[in-house]
Amino acid sequence: MRTPSAKPKRFRLRTRWIVLAGLLTTVGLYVGVCCVPPESFRQVNRPRDGVALKGRVAVVYSNQYQIHLAGFERLHPFDIGKYAKIYLKLQTDGYLRPEDVFVPAPLTDEQALLVHTREYLASLKSPAKVAEYLEAPYLALLPAPALNAGVVDAFRAASGGTILAGRLALKHGIAVNVGGGYHHAMPEAGGGFNLFADMSIAIRQLRKEGLIRRAAVVDLDVHQGNGTSTIFAGDADVFTFDMHEGDIYPHPKARSTLDVPLPADTGDEEYLAILRQHLGGVLDRAKPDIVFLQGGCDVLAGDPLAHLQISPQGLADRDATVIDACVQRRIPLAMVMGGGYGKDAWSAQAASIARTIRTHALAGAPPAYPPRERTAGEALYVK
Ligand SMILES: [Zn+2]
Repeated sequence: MRTPSAKPKRFRLRTRWIVLAGLLTTVGLYVGVCCVPPESFRQVNRPRDGVALKGRVAVVYSNQYQIHLAGFERLHPFDIGKYAKIYLKLQTDGYLRPEDVFVPAPLTDEQALLVHTREYLASLKSPAKVAEYLEAPYLALLPAPALNAGVVDAFRAASGGTILAGRLALKHGIAVNVGGGYHHAMPEAGGGFNLFADMSIAIRQLRKEGLIRRAAVVDLDVHQGNGTSTIFAGDADVFTFDMHEGDIYPHPKARSTLDVPLPADTGDEEYLAILRQHLGGVLDRAKPDIVFLQGGCDVLAGDPLAHLQISPQGLADRDATVIDACVQRRIPLAMVMGGGYGKDAWSAQAASIARTIRTHALAGAPPAYPPRERTAGEALYVK
């Protein structure tokens, strides 16, 4: 004879197994879809040479730029998938193939030490410190190896990309690193979501290799590049030109060679007029062997951390103003992405890079490869 409770108990056990199996399948599918890169991203996983578009514009990117913490990275309010979205958009619009892309080696300690202190590099092993630099307190809860592999290494990869973009700019004229621009990092501390002072390291590395003597940093991110300006204060061979919104982070500001603070609500026309008013003089005074353009797209209207009113067209015009001036003067230019993590900021930045490729590699001709739709796997991977 059956006891009255036997059936419900077995039933409860079976239900539990079904729920557990369902949960594991969901997690497995999620990890499979989100963490296993689609083919177009697997092709840019390891350091290798690419091909400069028409020998003039080199694009640098690595799948290692992607911050990944098994989904936890999505807790961060910023759109940290923007690099991947830009890379994919340039590809699906026919501007480049994965094999064209130059995939950088990650930043080494030896390179980082050109700017940072040994104590600072050691502090990157502490989850509490990294969480502080990246302004993401939940990161402090993670074990150090996971944080290193998922976050610190992504910054190393993108910073290696800035060094490579510098070398490629000297060779081809223009190079775009689809990442980098960590202009708040100081020699002895990270901050403002930045770990390595990639542009400053790249300038010192190129100098060490005997490739350049003088450099200019044109920093048009909406925030002042206080790290870069501090690092090169007193260095007559590096000109730091910084146009930013005056009343927001960082406080206090550092002193650049030339600072142009702008009031909140500055729009396209006024912004471009001020940029044009200063740029020629900056290039004349700096006489740079290379220009690093920090093209942060947080100047766009609606950015969650700033209050300028620049349109996507204004952003492309801004980058064009600097890039075209450098091409005209035959100054090599390396562009890095900088900040700007609003919902659609990535697409304005992708459009600006596409314009650079159209103007300087394609001479106005349409993209070289047939445009294609994103695959379902790609769409989920960059979501
Ligand atoms: Zn910024």
